[in-house]
Amino acid sequence: MDVSGKITLKKGKSFSIERFHPWIFSGAIQRIDGNIHDGSWVEVVQHNGKPLGTGHFQEGSITVRMLTFGESRPAPDFYTPKLAAALLLRTSAHLPGELTNCFRWIHAEGDGLPGLIVDWYNGVAVIQAHSHGMHADRKKIALAIKKIWGAHLKSVYYKAQSTPAHLSQTEREDEYLFGLGGVPHVVRENNNKFYVDWEEGQKTGFFLDQRENRKILGEFSKGKKVLNTFCYTGGFSVYAIAAGADIVHSVDSSEKAIAVARKNIELNMFDESVHKCYTSDTFDFLKDKQNQYDVIVLDPPAFAKKRDSRHRAVKGYQRLNADAMRIIRPGGIIFTFSCSQVVDRKLFYDTVISAAIQAQRQVKVLQHLSQPSDHPVSLFHPEGEYLKGLALYLE
Ligand code: SAH
Repeated sequence: MDVSGKITLKKGKSFSIERFHPWIFSGAIQRIDGNIHDGSWVEVVQHNGKPLGTGHFQEGSITVRMLTFGESRPAPDFYTPKLAAALLLRTSAHLPGELTNCFRWIHAEGDGLPGLIVDWYNGVAVIQAHSHGMHADRKKIALAIKKIWGAHLKSVYYKAQSTPAHLSQTEREDEYLFGLGGVPHVVRENNNKFYVDWEEGQKTGFFLDQRENRKILGEFSKGKKVLNTFCYTGGFSVYAIAAGADIVHSVDSSEKAIAVARKNIELNMFDESVHKCYTSDTFDFLKDKQNQYDVIVLDPPAFAKKRDSRHRAVKGYQRLNADAMRIIRPGGIIFTFSCSQVVDRKLFYDTVISAAIQAQRQVKVLQHLSQPSDHPVSLFHPEGEYLKGLALYLE
């Protein structure tokens, strides 16, 4: 990797980097040397010149995302060993395995690669870049993927949707970096089948982070009437039916999502009379459903993407949870989630308490839910824990 410049930190500002926190904020920077632009690799040094590592430069509040720490310089083939190490972590968790052939291969900071997401769908790697640096390096990343998988690799798709918005449209187009199309593509997750369409679908095409929670939902679904709101591809619905639910209703405001959920039910060859889809806003749907469901899943999109919208997001989670708590049958179970990074576990928990007070229901916590092991969180970067959930029992 070519390193094109040098960032010198202010005195007293290197502590977090020495502890492997991967972000350097603009306020910590003393000087910038060299001909650098968004996406350049830069060397980072302490005020006295001592090397701290290297990373991707990008104008903005987070000015450098660290990729190496200490004295070592990035090798020309930086990405291959990094991706191989991350794959080793997944294989030690039996991913891919007999029952599951899709998983998150690279989880940004959690894998020491800030800005990079790679999801693996049985032979197809789908890349997302959340930084200029990863966008600029996308071809090198594709090459590393090819090296690791060899003949097992069908294609590498670059999904530009989440690439920083200030790049021009032509610079941020979706493209195959290797191989050709082939959507929709069928993957297996805990032996359930799903269509994945990375070209048209949301994010990389499928939400891999709910794999373990879908399994837990299955354990509570036998003989039950289950409502899966914000269902997208119908992940929770498929698990509930497979586990023997009596009735499953899937709700999403997007017609496209509902069409995918319906196709996934067909794909698993379930008795279709068990399942019904509704294209509807969840808040509207819940209004007149008193005492109809034993199990309800609430898995909304991130209500807050930034800190300044956190208050409004909390109000949204509170209302959603209170609405579900009001209507669920006595003895029912709610699986409630938040994937907003700025709403931490404690705040989410407190919000659920407010919802229970509002709904006037007695509620017990059965389980704390989180993201699975292919979405690792660096101990030094707790911000990486974004998925929080609770399994609640309502008396
Ligand atoms: N539970 C899903 C992922 C949910 S993603 C899974 O396991 O894969 C969030 C979904 O919420 C999206 O499909 C989006 O279309 C839908 N959505 C957003 N706002 C909504 C609303 N107000 N009512 C219903 N669905 C909504």
